[in-house]
Amino acid sequence: MANQFQKNYPADEDFPNLEKHDNHMAKILTKEMYAKLRDKTTPSGFSLDAVIQTGVDNPGHEHIMTVGCVAGDEESYEVFAELFDPIIDERHGGFKPGDKHKTDLDFSKLQEAKFDEKYVQSSRVRTGRSIRGICLPPHCTRAERRKVEKISTDALATLDGEYKGQYYPLSEMSEKEQEKLIEEHLLFDKPVSPLLNSSRMARDWPDARGIWYNEKRDFLVWVNEEDHLRVISMQEGGDMGSVFKRFCEGLQKFEGAIKRSGEEFMHNDHLGYILTCPSNLGTGLRGGVHVKLPNIGKDEKKLDKIMELLRLQKRGTGGVDTAADDGVYDVSNADRLGFSEVELVQFVVDGVNLLIEMEKLAEQGKSYDNLIPKERVGGKD
Ligand code: ADP
Ligand code: MG
Repeated sequence: MANQFQKNYPADEDFPNLEKHDNHMAKILTKEMYAKLRDKTTPSGFSLDAVIQTGVDNPGHEHIMTVGCVAGDEESYEVFAELFDPIIDERHGGFKPGDKHKTDLDFSKLQEAKFDEKYVQSSRVRTGRSIRGICLPPHCTRAERRKVEKISTDALATLDGEYKGQYYPLSEMSEKEQEKLIEEHLLFDKPVSPLLNSSRMARDWPDARGIWYNEKRDFLVWVNEEDHLRVISMQEGGDMGSVFKRFCEGLQKFEGAIKRSGEEFMHNDHLGYILTCPSNLGTGLRGGVHVKLPNIGKDEKKLDKIMELLRLQKRGTGGVDTAADDGVYDVSNADRLGFSEVELVQFVVDGVNLLIEMEKLAEQGKSYDNLIPKERVGGKD
């Protein structure tokens, strides 16, 4: 509960003003639902008000449709299912409470995963993972956060070969070193995002935050940003096949080491991997490229429509809060749940290859309308 006296007031007097809001939570939360859930908490004490605060404080987002809520622990998704289930259904293009999520990390199934490097500058695949039994970043204590850091860095220290690496805590990094890693797109931004702050994920910054990476700096783990853990494989150029292979292998090695230490990741057959933001449930996977599309980017609305048909999302190259820079976009899969890792990266591969074909035509002043798919790819909705 937000405060001890809250129950002395009727729930409708507490209902947030969502009139000007455009996020999934604001569209779904009704006064009745709020009244029913307001006084509930998860076993660790996470409340409905804590779930929705980020969506109340941030009515919308310039570049993406936000979900407007977060989980504070694994149980949040059950205790507040009445709110989360329809949000998950809407955000993930149709996913019902009885649906099962599948995982597939067999990278050999990925086809045609080498992009034209005249257009694609870099390729990246990331996911998130949470350690079971520890509250998520909006709700964890300092001790819990430090435990996540200890469990993950101890496990990562056992990796060898291509995956041998080192951990660099933010607290021991100079301002300059930090800036450089952010500019190189390796490290998460400082806690400037209002989404991070309103959901209380930035508390105690930079305590127990850091980045681990291997010697080649192409396999990385972020510790205690928006999720307990973010696992990333990336490299310059268009070889998404190699990026995905390293992602799958490295992730499985990391999970093996976590299990050997007696811990496990939060996971169930319905929601897949449990993460802080409902938009990341399932695979937690965002596979993407930085790609030059200056010509088809001129008609922003049309490009957005094409992206939707291809199940893709575009962002600026400096992260989710930035706009496209000189016609270069971060193009990634829009879905995380209901499709496997292989399927999602294949959407990115097929979609980006098609976008490049369109860009080539637009460069010559030709129409690319014939290349636009007639219906949404992937067979769902
Ligand atoms: P995430 O979904 O991983 O949190 P963000 O949009 O917050 O992604 O971006 C995090 C960082 O990762 C930013 O510095 C961004 O530029 C970088 N990044 C994302 N995709 C790519 C890519 N394909 N190539 C290079 N850097 C990338
Ligand atoms: Mg981010």
